[in-house]
Amino acid sequence: MYNETEKVKNPISIKLLNIIFSIYFCFTIIITATQIFIELKDSKQVIMSELQSVEQSNKRALEQALWVFDDEQVKSIADGVIQLQFVTGLSIKDNNGKLMLSRGEVNDTHFIYHQFKINHGQAIRDQALKKIDLADIVIFSDRSILFERTKTRVISIIISAVIKSIILWLIIFWVLKKYLFKPLCQFVQNIEKVDLNSLNDKTIFFGIKEKNELKVIEKSFNSMLCHLELQKEQLIHHEQQLLDASYQYNEKLEITVAKRTQELVISNEKLKALANTDPLTKLNNRRYFFESGHKLLATAIERKQPLFVIMCDIDFFKKINDEYGHAVGDEALIAFAKTVSSLVREGDVFARMGGEEFALIISNLEFDISVALAERIRLALAAIKIESEGTIIQFTVSFGIASYQTDDENLDDILHKADVNLYRAKETGRNKICF
Ligand code: GH3
Ligand code: MG
Ligand code: MG
Repeated sequence: MYNETEKVKNPISIKLLNIIFSIYFCFTIIITATQIFIELKDSKQVIMSELQSVEQSNKRALEQALWVFDDEQVKSIADGVIQLQFVTGLSIKDNNGKLMLSRGEVNDTHFIYHQFKINHGQAIRDQALKKIDLADIVIFSDRSILFERTKTRVISIIISAVIKSIILWLIIFWVLKKYLFKPLCQFVQNIEKVDLNSLNDKTIFFGIKEKNELKVIEKSFNSMLCHLELQKEQLIHHEQQLLDASYQYNEKLEITVAKRTQELVISNEKLKALANTDPLTKLNNRRYFFESGHKLLATAIERKQPLFVIMCDIDFFKKINDEYGHAVGDEALIAFAKTVSSLVREGDVFARMGGEEFALIISNLEFDISVALAERIRLALAAIKIESEGTIIQFTVSFGIASYQTDDENLDDILHKADVNLYRAKETGRNKICF
């Protein structure tokens, strides 16, 4: 019908047409068959009444001829009957069932026949009238006569059914095409043209004027498109807002992350410093001493520069604690740290090794100068005065100095040697430097 049918494989209108027409066709066949059946029945009835009329018109003549055994007369009547258009056969049997005469087709397969008896009424003395059977007569007709008679009528019934069917099919086809198929095709075409992304007019038209269901669909569809467009704009707006918000949030997040990272770096540095610092004296601890000492030793060995490790231990420190209390001992330790820190160079490593034991690494300084420095430190420490409840407390410190002798010595070895020297200083009177 239309090119659009290529796109729509099973158009609804064609399906409707098929369904309506199939139902109509079935009913037409049933009604036509019923009409033909009634027609055949009526025609058979007419033939039967015609056969009965043959009985009426010939009964008397046959009775007389049979009563007087006038065979010629019987034959002539039979010939007359067989001449009739609707009679195809005739048989006459006597009262014993013996065939006396037959004309035309007389077999039992005929389904249209009329059978009657010929009898003769006779009054014997005072008795009532007695009937004597003379013969059994059967007059046959044939299907072909029935069909011949109904043929024209049946053909006209069939032709009228066919014509009615064709006209109805054309009407249904035209109606469906005009009111369903065409508008639906137009609807499909228009829907395909609708592009939600473009700003063009998005309304569609069925091309119908009547206010029917399709018009309602058209209206609803157009309002749906408008609604969609509105929602789309709202969505775009909302999306833009979300995007802006997310940009702002990202910027804030980046600032926060940068700030946090900075804080982390600082806190890491603090942690690292804490990990390397003695909490009481704020000096470097044993851990830091070894960490930096290894590096200093490696550099010194590499550059063939001198390196000295000075171990120092407060003399009789336990006594201070015992006599003046632990807090005074702490004070002495803090004063110790401050004094030594003020005398060493920036690159030297000075650390609290534990308790009242301290160690100092001096690199790239000659032996004499190093010993002199140790001496300066010893004197400065001895000059420290701590006041406790009106009493001035002073203390002395013993020193042990060692340096690396061979390239394969490590920091522990040197430290051990310095410790041995320190032990010697303790053993030999304290408040002195041994090397
Ligand atoms: P020597 O001259 O042989 O070194 O005698 P000493 O008493 O100094 O040595 P000893 O090892 O017997 O005692 C060290 C004392 O140092 C023991 C401990 O109570 C004290 N001490 C260790 N760490 C601290 C501290 O952080 N604060 C205080 N107040 N005392 C400490
Ligand atoms: Mg000690
Ligand atoms: Mg001591």
